Amino acid sequence: IEVGAGDAPGGPAAPPEDPDHPLHGRTALVTGGARGIGEAVAATLAEQGARVVVLDVPAAESDARAVAERLGGSALALDITAPDAGARIAAALPDGLDVLIHNAGITRDRRLVNMPAERWSSVLDVNLGSVLRTTDALLAAGTLRPGGRIVATASIAGIAGNAGQTNYGASKAGVVGLVRSLAPRALAEHGVTVNAVAPGFVETRMTAAIPLFLREAGRRMNSLGQGGLPQDVAETTAWLAHPASGAVNGQVVRVCGQSLL
Ligand code: NAD
Repeated sequence: IEVGAGDAPGGPAAPPEDPDHPLHGRTALVTGGARGIGEAVAATLAEQGARVVVLDVPAAESDARAVAERLGGSALALDITAPDAGARIAAALPDGLDVLIHNAGITRDRRLVNMPAERWSSVLDVNLGSVLRTTDALLAAGTLRPGGRIVATASIAGIAGNAGQTNYGASKAGVVGLVRSLAPRALAEHGVTVNAVAPGFVETRMTAAIPLFLREAGRRMNSLGQGGLPQDVAETTAWLAHPASGAVNGQVVRVCGQSLL
């Protein structure tokens, strides 16, 4: 077990940190890592020395494999909403996990009135239910090692709301509540911190699918008036995964260039 300085008082002595590869010897799992923000997060964690596991849906398996091969990691083809997803991740990682990035997410935008129930439940299940279930399973199984880091990708839509995204905004607000509620106990009982990033509008395939006028409105919500890049989110996520960030817990860090949204 490698534990970062200050992570676990009284725990094993921390090995000296390599500033160029602070995640050396650590294993990181990124859900939804085959493209977009998740791919950038996986690449950034790998650059910092982590062995990465790129998890994505079976339909994206070849993309996940390509990313994993490029980064010297491995791929896991798994729908994160599967009831046994946590158990399958634990079985795939018998040596344990240090960094868990809950990044997989979907949008199914629609005005609330007459929203089909499935449109509500599927977004809630991918974006929030799966985060709750896999975190629970991996903490209970002891897969997440002391000194570990959990970082969930929330959204500004879960803080400020966004018209047409009632289901998505509710799911991301749920992630914020989950992180804040879980963080104290996860640190006290498992030595694992739990934080979230809340990106504003980021240029990915997810946002390329929305109508142009909404895309432009999304870009304007960022302080520079343009969309953020996956790398912006990856840098902040990697900072929260860093061994030296052990005193940061239960926080939601906005990645949109401003504080008041
Ligand atoms: P994206 O659609 O480009 O990538 C999402 C990835 O998640 C895909 O590879 C997809 O296959 C995977 N995924 C979806 N459902 C899954 C499931 N059930 N099991 C496993 N993998 C699954 O989206 P993105 O823009 O890169 O978004 C990544 C995260 O960032 C999401 O949680 C999203 O809600 C959040 N986010 C995005 C933006 C933005 O503007 N793009 C803003 C705020 C938050």
